[in-house]
Amino acid sequence: MEIRCKNCGKLLGDFEGKGTVKCTRTECGGMNIFETSTGKHEFIPKRKPNYLKNRATSSGVTFN
Ligand SMILES: [Zn+2]
Repeated sequence: MEIRCKNCGKLLGDFEGKGTVKCTRTECGGMNIFETSTGKHEFIPKRKPNYLKNRATSSGVTFN
């Protein structure tokens, strides 16, 4: 399933299952949390400075 950034629309890649992918667009940089089986897709803006240190995803893909 193609995952696009929910904020800026940039194509982030093809994923299946559950995961978190960071938007590669510098001006955006938000986290997209998705689950392809349910179609869930949440977006977290990059504001929180220590978010990157808390990269504990339960499963799936983590992109940097
Ligand atoms: Zn984006």
